[in-house]
Amino acid sequence: MDALCPVCGQPMNWVSGHFHCDTCHTDYKQTALCPDCQQPLQALKACGAVDYFCQNGHGMISKKRVTFTYSPYSDE
Ligand SMILES: [Zn+2]
Ligand SMILES: [Zn+2]
Repeated sequence: MDALCPVCGQPMNWVSGHFHCDTCHTDYKQTALCPDCQQPLQALKACGAVDYFCQNGHGMISKKRVTFTYSPYSDE
């Protein structure tokens, strides 16, 4: 999975539950959004794969259609 930093556009590393940008020295968390309503999707884990479900009536969303956004993550 290629996750690009929202600030500098460089590929980020997956580190213990979140993404880390070595360039910005910042941690980011990934949020999956519905491409139709831009609301956060519920992640359903099954058989090693993750499916995404929109609770606003759009049903299952193919991973290819999911919009991923990254926001600063804090440990606080
Ligand atoms: Zn960055
Ligand atoms: Zn939706």
